[in-house]
Amino acid sequence: MYDLIVIGGGPAGTSAAITAAQSGARVLLLEKSRFPRHKVCGEFVSAESLSLLGHLLSQDFAPLLHNSIRIFESRIFLDGKILHARISPPAASIPRFYLDAALWDSAQNCGVEVLEQTTVRKISGQGPFSIESSRQTYEARAVINATGRWSNLSMSAIPDANGDRQSRTKWLGVKAHFTEMSPSLSVDLYFFPGGYCGVQPVSADSETARSNINACAMVRADVATTLAEVFQQNPELRERSRHWQPLSSPVSTSPLIFRQPEPVEENILRAGDAAAFVDPFVGDGISLALRSGALAAQCLQPFFAGRSSLAEAAVNYQQSYKNKLASVYRASSQLRRLLNLPPAVRRPLISVLGKSPRLRDYLVTKTR
Ligand SMILES: Cc1cc2nc3c(=O)[nH]c(=O)nc-3n(C[C@H](O)[C@H](O)[C@H](O)COP(=O)(O)OP(=O)(O)OC[C@H]3O[C@@H](n4cnc5c(N)ncnc54)[C@H](O)[C@@H]3O)c2cc1C
Repeated sequence: MYDLIVIGGGPAGTSAAITAAQSGARVLLLEKSRFPRHKVCGEFVSAESLSLLGHLLSQDFAPLLHNSIRIFESRIFLDGKILHARISPPAASIPRFYLDAALWDSAQNCGVEVLEQTTVRKISGQGPFSIESSRQTYEARAVINATGRWSNLSMSAIPDANGDRQSRTKWLGVKAHFTEMSPSLSVDLYFFPGGYCGVQPVSADSETARSNINACAMVRADVATTLAEVFQQNPELRERSRHWQPLSSPVSTSPLIFRQPEPVEENILRAGDAAAFVDPFVGDGISLALRSGALAAQCLQPFFAGRSSLAEAAVNYQQSYKNKLASVYRASSQLRRLLNLPPAVRRPLISVLGKSPRLRDYLVTKTR
């Protein structure tokens, strides 16, 4: 009987597993794929989770965080205008290929039992739980579901907050790395009808001034299905991407469905995208995954110590999640609505934003 089984080895699952193990719990972490692996993501890690990330990574991975490129500015290319917003304190740019593998190894280093290539098929019970996997069945006093936004174990929370209309529109995510000479230390978001593409440097070679950059798009499937098609959708992006050399094969994912937070289901705590999927353009998904994973594990500690029931721990998590994290989802839904307004309505609003740096900075802080 484990104290805790965490399902899913992304940022949310590893954060939960490490936090619980650090406080003495016996933890099993199950992951269906293998690390390292490429993941569709803009790889923008916002500042408010960087100190938590520092606590989660074991000492040998400290350079991954400390040597990462810092992103000081966001540039939004929309309706022929460029909106600049400061990112203060700066975010970090860390490829998921390294980040997720480092978190996985750190979990193992701090005493979590880890199993890759193990798919959980079914969870039974309301505490204790029986976890049926492709390997064998395991028992645990508590379970955290951190299986991401679209898994066999997190689909019950769908349909999304916007109802059926959005679910019928197929959105996909696609990303690849390229090389570019001297990109600015900014995250550049190129918007176009039916999607946007984020571009940011992920590593730099100081001798050649050549950098590796990540281009990651979220796009409607009827608009584009490849990055080459995405690059044609925005004039500034089309021009910029002409000089890029591909570094990695593209990876893609679908569907992308936003939904309101649902952090608890029948005494199972959900963390990261399994609890709620935030629009990627706010660049906060990794941070929310790390924070909600740690929060879920912290809320379970009184239960492990025999000072509360599992149901009380779950209620505590639900409430803490609402207080600490839910406002980000509300703010990003409002911003998404603004960007999806018809161009005739949106342009004057963008023009106001263009003239007010304080308003732009305020909007950035609201999504944190
Ligand atoms: C296009 C796009 C761009 C993005 N850009 C950014 C960005 O720039 N910055 C940012 O902060 N966020 C970004 N995000 C969001 C970010 O990628 C997610 O929020 C983050 O990965 C969530 O972490 P997680 O641990 O909850 O889920 P995941 O990282 O998805 O991890 C879930 C894990 O669970 C495993 N799993 C699933 N089912 C099972 C099962 N049944 N049994 C065992 N294991 C299972 C999966 O294999 C996976 O490894 C972006 C997302 C998209 C789609």
